[in-house]
Amino acid sequence: MDENSRAARHRRLWEADHRHLWHPFTQMQDWLAEEPIIVDAADGVFLVDTLGNRYLDGVSSLWCNVHGHRVPEIDRAVEAQLGKVAHSTLLGLASTASIECAEELARHLPAGLTRIFFSDAGATAVEIALKMAYQHHQLRGDAARTEFVALRGGYHGDTIGSVSLGGIDLFHRIFKPLLFDVHHAPQPYCYRCPLGKERATCGMACADDVEAIFEARKGKVAALVLEPVMQGADGMIAQPPGYVRRMREICDRHGALLVCDEVATGWGRTGTTFAVEQEGIVPDILTMAKGLTGGYLPLAATITTERVFESFLAPYEEKKTFFHGHTYAGNPLACAAATASMKLFTERKIVAGLPAKIAALARALEPAARLPHVGEIRQRGLMVGIELVRDRATKEEYAYPLRAGHEVILEARKHGALLRPLGNVVVLMPPLAMTEAELEQLAGITIAAIEAVTARI
Ligand code: PMP
Repeated sequence: MDENSRAARHRRLWEADHRHLWHPFTQMQDWLAEEPIIVDAADGVFLVDTLGNRYLDGVSSLWCNVHGHRVPEIDRAVEAQLGKVAHSTLLGLASTASIECAEELARHLPAGLTRIFFSDAGATAVEIALKMAYQHHQLRGDAARTEFVALRGGYHGDTIGSVSLGGIDLFHRIFKPLLFDVHHAPQPYCYRCPLGKERATCGMACADDVEAIFEARKGKVAALVLEPVMQGADGMIAQPPGYVRRMREICDRHGALLVCDEVATGWGRTGTTFAVEQEGIVPDILTMAKGLTGGYLPLAATITTERVFESFLAPYEEKKTFFHGHTYAGNPLACAAATASMKLFTERKIVAGLPAKIAALARALEPAARLPHVGEIRQRGLMVGIELVRDRATKEEYAYPLRAGHEVILEARKHGALLRPLGNVVVLMPPLAMTEAELEQLAGITIAAIEAVTARI
């Protein structure tokens, strides 16, 4: 295509986008005033737009890219499945693709997690976890356990149940009248400790506050739900090591279930297949989506122990049925993509290759720590948040209208990297397939963009 027809096509698509599309998590007034990047193609860890520009995919589409784009093995698996059957239901029927997917998935799970309930998005996986936890206690005759505990700053998706769990004021506060009550515990955010303590001497007092909620609501808590190791959407808030282990102990002491939401942290993101492995614990329920298919197609899973599953077993007892299901649960195309992605995860020894990449990214980001407007760099594996501050000494934040994070991503685009900020936090979530050289390039662009923007605003 010559340059003129390419520009004309871009213009036509841009106009159509602005006429019809309503983008998620986007201030549409700003969107309509700006020229969009229109992704047209991809290869490896690069996205290509309608004008032919190539960008490093610095946030893995939406945190879900594992092996890169257009992976021949996954492409072929989906094509082969298209030649058989594209849709199915798990309601009263089984399907080859979903059985094979579950079988492969079981090979990767922490020991003890065995029962897989498929759905189609991270938020639905969390909704399912909530209903399962609640019904589990009801069926065991523990009818008072109807309440949930979650963390401030938590994010579990955008449906009503997951928003009820959510603890990000900006996203969640407005919907409060629609939500059910959840007990929110202080956020383990050591850089800005909500309890005003210092990490070296705090004795993890924020964990004691979680336990205090369980004490106050004795026998009433069904489950504690959290993002293990790192809270993502609130700005990559890394938990102190041992925090999730403490949460496991608290749940055990108080007879509640622990639900770990690994929608963002799962599939190698934090350096192990699942983040809970780093804490040496197994939750009662684990949720996943995103990286399960390598980011290819919508598929999510809510996975439980035998103990939870067994609560639902009884011949001809209607009330023990789990009344929940989605039309696209275990869709064969998505399952075929997931099976291929998980096999590659093993064959390519993804986890074994991560330490060198994680170290390379950390090394490449070292100069950022010396920048006058970088407050903290939080990294767990290939999940990074760089918190920008107006004043390092006082940790004063940039005011919202300055849109510091947004300005940084606009600057990074000029140098060939696509990023997405969370407020004043610049996020890096590169595909696990990025090479060390590409990670260094991504870090270099990010640092240059932060320097340019913070010098200006
Ligand atoms: N839980 C966590 C921890 C997430 O990060 C996300 C998405 N960013 C979700 C749930 C929701 O997933 P989805 O967007 O697929 O509904």
